[in-house]
Amino acid sequence: MPISDLKSVRLLFLPNGLADMDPIHAMLQEATETASLILDVQDDYGAGIEALTATAPDVLLVGVASAEESRQAVLDLLAVHAVLVPVVLVSERDEDALALQGMQAGAQDFLVLQDLDRHTLLRSVRFAIERGRVRQALRASEAQKEAILDAARRTEEALRSSDARYQRIAANVPGMVYQFVLRPDGSMAFPFASDGARELFGIEPAAIMADAMLLVERLHGEDREDFAASVAESARTLEPWKWAGRYLHAQTGDYCWIEGASRPHLEPNGDVFWDGLLVDITHRKQAETELRQAKEEAEAATLAKSQFLATMSHEIRTPMNAVIGMTGLLLDTSLSPEQREYAQIIQESGDALLTIINDILDYSKIEAGQLELEQQPFDLRDVVESSLDLIANRAAEKGLELAYVLQPDTPDAVRGDVTRLRQILVNLLSNAVKFTEQGEVILTLHSTPLTAERYELHFTVRDTGIGIPEDRMDRLFHSFSQVDSSTTRRYGGTGLGLAICQRLCALMGGRIWVESVLGQGSTFHVVLPMEIAAPVHVALEPSALHLEGRSLLIVDDNPTNRQILTLQARSWGMFSEESASAEEALTRLRQGERFDIAILDIQMPDMDGITLAREIHRLCDPTTMPLVGLSSVTRRLAEFEGAGFATMLTKPIKQSQLFNVLAQVFATIPPPPPAPSTVSPFDTTLAQRLPLRILMAEDLVVNQKLLHLLLGKFGYRADIAANGLEVLKALERQPYDLILMDVQMPEMDGLEASRRIHRDLPPERLPRIVALTANAMREDQEACMAAGMDDYLAKPIHPVALRVALTRAGEWTQKRRENRAQAEGAAPSESENPMPSVEAATVERSLSERVIDPVMLAELRSMRDILPELISMFRSEARVRLDTLHGAIETGDAEQLRQLAHGIRGAAASMGGSELTAICARLEEIGRAGTVEGAAALLPEVESLFAQLCQAWEYEETLGDSESEPPP
Ligand code: ADP
Repeated sequence: MPISDLKSVRLLFLPNGLADMDPIHAMLQEATETASLILDVQDDYGAGIEALTATAPDVLLVGVASAEESRQAVLDLLAVHAVLVPVVLVSERDEDALALQGMQAGAQDFLVLQDLDRHTLLRSVRFAIERGRVRQALRASEAQKEAILDAARRTEEALRSSDARYQRIAANVPGMVYQFVLRPDGSMAFPFASDGARELFGIEPAAIMADAMLLVERLHGEDREDFAASVAESARTLEPWKWAGRYLHAQTGDYCWIEGASRPHLEPNGDVFWDGLLVDITHRKQAETELRQAKEEAEAATLAKSQFLATMSHEIRTPMNAVIGMTGLLLDTSLSPEQREYAQIIQESGDALLTIINDILDYSKIEAGQLELEQQPFDLRDVVESSLDLIANRAAEKGLELAYVLQPDTPDAVRGDVTRLRQILVNLLSNAVKFTEQGEVILTLHSTPLTAERYELHFTVRDTGIGIPEDRMDRLFHSFSQVDSSTTRRYGGTGLGLAICQRLCALMGGRIWVESVLGQGSTFHVVLPMEIAAPVHVALEPSALHLEGRSLLIVDDNPTNRQILTLQARSWGMFSEESASAEEALTRLRQGERFDIAILDIQMPDMDGITLAREIHRLCDPTTMPLVGLSSVTRRLAEFEGAGFATMLTKPIKQSQLFNVLAQVFATIPPPPPAPSTVSPFDTTLAQRLPLRILMAEDLVVNQKLLHLLLGKFGYRADIAANGLEVLKALERQPYDLILMDVQMPEMDGLEASRRIHRDLPPERLPRIVALTANAMREDQEACMAAGMDDYLAKPIHPVALRVALTRAGEWTQKRRENRAQAEGAAPSESENPMPSVEAATVERSLSERVIDPVMLAELRSMRDILPELISMFRSEARVRLDTLHGAIETGDAEQLRQLAHGIRGAAASMGGSELTAICARLEEIGRAGTVEGAAALLPEVESLFAQLCQAWEYEETLGDSESEPPP
């Protein structure tokens, strides 16, 4: 070994009591010089040990002296350091036992001093270092191996415990954990099924893993296809699979519900695997079924409740029908003043009772959750004004001041249920008037924007009445509660009004409350959030703009009234002058001032309006300056006869009303036809024009009588059947054109009878069936139609509605006869088609002259050649429009209503139907106001006027024909 290999090797030499260490010392010294060995000699053993730990030499050379302590020191040293540093022993004596002992203790070599030469020494040192290195490397690799083994052991341990955990989870989750595979050839298998299979399916998991069809076959027959489809779908889309179905349990033999969910993954070979869980959901399904049953039962109970309501309403309305109807007929006869008064009281009480019944129905409807609110745009001012209108008379009778204030921030139009809002306001206003003996009732409306589209409307109704005691205030809004519930109470009422108001407010998302001081008055507050809508203000018709530039004199002692009138008149471009007294006004007129029109307050302190009117007429011509009376009570013009008023206005003054009155006066149209109530709805010629064979089916004798009398008023008579069975028997005996069929009758009701008639009779012999029912609910109407009835009359039967129904039936029958006659190509036999007699035709001729505007009649008569075409065009076109108009009103389409009414109006005007024209103008007006409210009520009248007009023209046509033909 070359000595240079020892370069930089650090050698520590501990002589350890060697007697002669010179030779060795010399050898080492030489190596130091030639081989750059770094030598450290420590003669003192203790210091040597210290140097050993401090410097960590590459090799240690230790002397072994003959002395026992030297040997022991070497063995001790070896025991501690031999593992860390290669040790070479140099002994004074050549002793095998010692050498063995030293080598066993870890020494690398045992050299004998006297045999030692430099070469041997250095070679031994070199080997010792090498061996030390090898041993070190070995030891390191050993440690590494140990570490690897240790890691492997830990991994295995972890695997074992995780596997055990999964096994435990798979075994313990309620249900079956599984792996399912669908192969491209369509075969399926369960590579894994957990122990849960046993409980879930009653099958051993191993059996399932062996044959997947074991499970599939036990699925409920109705669910199997669905299962296969769901698996195929999940395999196709790779979307998670989720399914529930019934499974026949192998142990219990019962069907149970299972539900599964899992996520599929596609293997490169085309296999699709699902790892998932199947669980038993039988209990959940049972709960669901029970819940559904409970819900159905609850719904049935609600239905029963609403049916009960309908029945109750029927039961109450039926006798009411007789009371109100009979009283109406009674009032139509000649009566002594005393009798008339009694009859009127009966009628008023009947009406009041109906109101209460309606209240109760309303309340029950709200309670049953059946009240649905409308969402239509409406004009706020209109609602306030029309509500005030309804109580204005009562307030005036009690001498109460009635006023309203709309704050300037109020939006013009909002969206909501106008009828229900009016109901609330009217209720509060009527209460205020009812409980106030003197003073005033004021309605105010403030509004605060909530967002750009929503406003909070705050209505208050303040009165100066009796007030409400503090301790009663909270009870007011409870149903059937009144402040004074004693039997001797002064004020009537059901105590339902405020309860209804409160529920309506809540339904609208608002609230209602009251503030009151006993003896001083009450203020009811209503706050409702509402969406603003586009203004539905009645746009002034261009043709009506003839108010512009006209002058107006206002005579009223009340400055507020004067101001209101002035402002409104100015907004239409009129000039107005105010006079605070009759005297002042007369002075102006005497001085030669003249106006296009004057409005006079009736009640003024010094000289009242009536006297003033008479005075004015002495000064100027009533045709050049028409006078309008202003009064707080709705009074008929007739009451002021002689005073020369062109028309009357009622307080509170409403803009629309004022406009209409002024426009009407200026348009110099003849005064409007008297209010409908004063016109008798009866038309004794109807039966002559539209003959009908009528069967009346009604079980109650009073109602039979009433109906008989009503029919008589139109010139009809009817056979009577007391129930459905009798109707069928009557039809076997002879044909009828019309059956007026009560819905609720003993033995066989009207619905069943209608169904049988439709089933048993050929279409050409089917009579028209009109249902008579007191059930006010829409479902009842639908049930009637479903049973094959053609029309519907609500009890109490209104003469106008009956007339409309009879007219419709008459026209329908007539058309059918015509068709039949045409089909048979022969004149219809007398019995089948009782044509109007000569007298009837004469009557009709005068009627047609009455119905058709004389100017138009004359004009159109001059165009005989195109008249038939005109009539038929009018008839069919207006009919289509009218039918669509019904729909527009039902769906609340105001714009369509406006357009259609406009169209019909135009057509009616050109056919000379002035009444139809007027009523269509009203419909048009309603539509223009952005609502359909009140339109439905006009429809019967429209239909009847339309029928009349058509009828009149048709007779006109036939007469014309016979006129042009030479007399036989
Ligand atoms: P009713 O039909 O009895 O008037 P309401 O529910 O409308 O039913 O009113 C309940 C009760 O509240 C009334 O009977 C009356 O005692 C009291 N009340 C309502 N409004 C007023 C008011 N403006 N002033 C005094 N008391 C009132």
